[in-house]
Amino acid sequence: MAEPGATLLDRLAAVVGETHVLSAAADVAPFVADWRGNFRGKARAVVQPATTAEVSAVVSACAAHGAAIVPQGGNTGLCGGATPDATGDEIVVSLARMQRVRALDTANATITVEAGLPLAAVQDAAAGAGLFFPLSLASEGSCTIGGNLSTNAGGTAVLRFGNTRDLTLGLEAVLADGSVFAGLRGLRKDNTGYDVKQLFIGAEGTLGIVTAAVLKLFPMPRTRVTALAALASMADAVALLQHLKHALSDRLVGFEVMSDFSLALSRRHHPGSPELLPGHPWYALIQVDESAPDAPLQAAVEAALGEALQAGIVTDVAFAQSHEQARRLWSLRENISEAQRKEGPNVKHDISLPVSAIPAFMTECEAALMAAFPNARLVVFGHLGDGNLHYNLSAPEGVAAQAFMDNAHAVNRIVHDLVARHDGSFSAEHGVGQLKREDLVRYKGSVEVALMRAVKAAFDPRGLMNPGKVL
Ligand SMILES: Cc1cc2nc3c(=O)[nH]c(=O)nc-3n(C[C@H](O)[C@H](O)[C@H](O)COP(=O)(O)OP(=O)(O)OC[C@H]3O[C@@H](n4cnc5c(N)ncnc54)[C@H](O)[C@@H]3O)c2cc1C
Repeated sequence: MAEPGATLLDRLAAVVGETHVLSAAADVAPFVADWRGNFRGKARAVVQPATTAEVSAVVSACAAHGAAIVPQGGNTGLCGGATPDATGDEIVVSLARMQRVRALDTANATITVEAGLPLAAVQDAAAGAGLFFPLSLASEGSCTIGGNLSTNAGGTAVLRFGNTRDLTLGLEAVLADGSVFAGLRGLRKDNTGYDVKQLFIGAEGTLGIVTAAVLKLFPMPRTRVTALAALASMADAVALLQHLKHALSDRLVGFEVMSDFSLALSRRHHPGSPELLPGHPWYALIQVDESAPDAPLQAAVEAALGEALQAGIVTDVAFAQSHEQARRLWSLRENISEAQRKEGPNVKHDISLPVSAIPAFMTECEAALMAAFPNARLVVFGHLGDGNLHYNLSAPEGVAAQAFMDNAHAVNRIVHDLVARHDGSFSAEHGVGQLKREDLVRYKGSVEVALMRAVKAAFDPRGLMNPGKVL
């Protein structure tokens, strides 16, 4: 127990133990900058509680001292949501020590895990019981389930299984006054008024600290077919998606689109990547899964893609012949983000649109950008099955990448205004954080923003939970 009149850090040390309160600059450094190195702040301390009771006591101590809290999971977020501000007053609460699997109920097909468990460990725990947790991101070795919930992460299987929100049945969270919202229910039906847990999903730590969740599990896929299709245009990619949905129904799990330039970047920075089907403007990486035994999946996918070839929607197709080849095809896609980071900064957008609007958006946006920034290079890839594109703009050949970033605001405005005109979203899966707060006010209606502010005030009247993020 800390003495009355003790400092905040003494109180925190009394809760979690001195070794789990980091305040030396070198210890704190990894927690105060984001993955891309775009945001950098300071923190009074980083605290690492190990249980929900400790999180509650940490939050109560911070509330008593009027100290603001920044929750942090794997720190892989891309909008600066987990980075403290520059004052050096904020306390980073890292969930890294909360990694227990609390329950695995095979009959209910659910797993109950603590917030700091890395996503890959959730997948492994499910697989150990012969079940499947479908959330999958390139950052899955580092990102945590608490971060996935707080950003409502999407990833590569949203087309079939939905995003993190769709995979969550129950949730436990510590509120700004230290009280615990105990909603760890594993129910698929529960119509008992407002569904409070939904508010924490996608809240980016602004309403409370998620400490645990009940997640849905699925039958393990028994057969998987992975294919790469070469395409002449984005319109053909949309047509192929529609065709495969009809032909394969919900066995179609992933449909990722990549421009030739985004693939070239991936290969340049990851030597030894597959060199399949060179020389086409667009590619779709397709994954089809079947959980039922003895289903002739390969034949069904070959037939569907054969029809697309005959109809001229697809120009060429290659199938992965082994798990290893499939893994290498996926790494081609998943390495694009890392390749962009190595290539130097570019102006990024994480947008979503109705799939039907994407071809028109692509034509109009490219024309508008090239008129304003001639010869700039588009790096476009993403989860086309979900209408989600990572639509990025790199400097023209010969122009320094860093200098081109002076145009970031003007580029964002062109892209996001056009997205809004097509009824899309300026943030499909990465959230708002510090990066897109202005966009939130610009593109959401005033009624929606007022409702969000009212929710924030109800949960966190003193504004101590991750201030300056989202709103
Ligand atoms: C290479 C790469 C690929 C990626 N691919 C994808 C992708 O395909 N799809 C996708 O959606 N995202 C993707 N991301 C982004 C990122 O991995 C996700 O946003 C992920 O969900 C963040 O999890 P995290 O544990 O790292 O959270 P952090 O970065 O630590 O935090 C993110 C936000 O959540 C809050 N937060 C974290 N934990 C908690 C908690 N327990 N309670 C309350 N708030 C909390 C933080 O305050 C912050 O606002 C990618 C990132 C990288 C680096």
